[in-house]
Amino acid sequence: MLRDAALRITKPRLAVISAVDRLAHPDTESVIAAVREAIPDVSHQTVYDSLRTLSDLGILRRIQPAGSVARYETRTGDNHHHLVCRSCGAVVDVDCAIGETICLTPSEDHGFQIDEAEVVYWGVCPQCASTSAPAESADGAGAAASPEAVNTDAVDTDAVNTDAVNTEATKLKVASP
Ligand SMILES: [Zn+2]
Ligand SMILES: [Zn+2]
Repeated sequence: MLRDAALRITKPRLAVISAVDRLAHPDTESVIAAVREAIPDVSHQTVYDSLRTLSDLGILRRIQPAGSVARYETRTGDNHHHLVCRSCGAVVDVDCAIGETICLTPSEDHGFQIDEAEVVYWGVCPQCASTSAPAESADGAGAAASPEAVNTDAVDTDAVNTDAVNTEATKLKVASP
């Protein structure tokens, strides 16, 4: 009953749901921009309030990876996880690794009643990985110069040692007869 009362179907709420559904894990600013295409005079506060209410009711899911702003999605209730790119912040859905029930069963629950397991896989997306590759090989070429200088010194030292050994051998030959 309370749930029905809270979920009044208002035009801004419908616009927020459709914006979140259409965009891929949008942040608040992206949702506001999209809602304004449908309702030009909608206020920031109305969109904020709609996002919070719809998230509280479980109609939207709010995620906030560390270091990121809050993002929203309409795929709720399945405890799916996310891949996050460290470079551009792209967020991609990924299903539970071993199944919903097992992911919600930690090795020790410490008496908690657990209803959600939040797993974030961090990495670099394919686009960012392909654009950053050339910079790394340039650094590697510059670092190769110093080991060669060390090797040259080592060769000189060997040459001195070889002379010393030859000299001693010559002395021994002279002394033996
Ligand atoms: Zn990326
Ligand atoms: Zn998602």
